[in-house]
Amino acid sequence: MILHLKEGINQHKIQELADQLQAVHYTSKDGYEVMITPSKLKEVPSFAVEFVNESFAASSDIQLASRDYRNEVREININGTKIGGKNRNSMVIGGPCSVESWEQISESAQLMKSLGITTLRAGCFKPRTSPYSFQGLGLEGLKLLDRARQEYGLNIITEVRDASHVDDVIAYADIIQVGAKAMYDHGILRKCGKARKPVLVKRGFGTTLQEFVQATEFILSGGNEDVILCERGIRTFETKTRFTLDLCGVAFLKEYTNLPIILDPSHAMGYRYGVPDLARACVAMDVDGLLIEVHPNPEVAMSDAAQQLNHQEFTDLHKSLSAVAGAIGRTLI
Ligand code: PEP
Ligand code: MN
Repeated sequence: MILHLKEGINQHKIQELADQLQAVHYTSKDGYEVMITPSKLKEVPSFAVEFVNESFAASSDIQLASRDYRNEVREININGTKIGGKNRNSMVIGGPCSVESWEQISESAQLMKSLGITTLRAGCFKPRTSPYSFQGLGLEGLKLLDRARQEYGLNIITEVRDASHVDDVIAYADIIQVGAKAMYDHGILRKCGKARKPVLVKRGFGTTLQEFVQATEFILSGGNEDVILCERGIRTFETKTRFTLDLCGVAFLKEYTNLPIILDPSHAMGYRYGVPDLARACVAMDVDGLLIEVHPNPEVAMSDAAQQLNHQEFTDLHKSLSAVAGAIGRTLI
């Protein structure tokens, strides 16, 4: 159960209530205390009634992210770029899998700028399957992204791979990306809960929708109200494509959660030939954005070479995505 407490209750009493209710709590952006009890509680106990302003019962431990709590998509404002809420924006997040050099990332930034895209993505700490593959430029990569942000006026999104650099990523990024493999790392999730920047959480490729959304509850219940879901494909028996993009799952997330949704056709497909058609299908799902990998020269990309579009392919795709977005009353940003 979620309880909004009345104003003016002292810290000692708040802690006492939290202990009695076995609740997690945080102070909302608007200044009131939010207390979240285990979901099996369905009514405010009599000892707490006098302290509670509003209460919401959720049907499972999807609580803060649920429609039972907020029956509209949360608005997320990234330095003036808005998704969710009443906005009908679909945010295109474009860029290479990894930051490789200033030349490469500045070319990517120029492409985004020329298409009116607000958000540049690239990884600096790559969660590679093999320790012998390129692991990313680390802090040097973050500094290159920071330079791209300043020179081109773009928002930057980059991923956290493990706890060793979570503070650096939080400091440099405008949106923090928690990757599919890091989605279960509670140290990262809790740190993101204390950050005051939006967090995009990718669905682990072996997680259920329930587990996926519960992972975001660690961030939300830490007091960070700005969380975005990202479906990027799950593992099925199929091996011809890299993963299987779960669009049925997306319909579930739209119906039952209040978090904006970004879809990632690049990692789901794994091969560039499928990305444009899938991307159009993603926009048609009426979601808040897309994440697409694009590289100045995909053939020599240091990670995910097979799935990255080149600049011409991305430019052509962007044009057709605008048309699909227009047909459902959305605007690409
Ligand atoms: C990525 O975004 O480059 C990435 C590694 O994605 P995922 O975490 O979805 O595998
Ligand atoms: Mn990638």
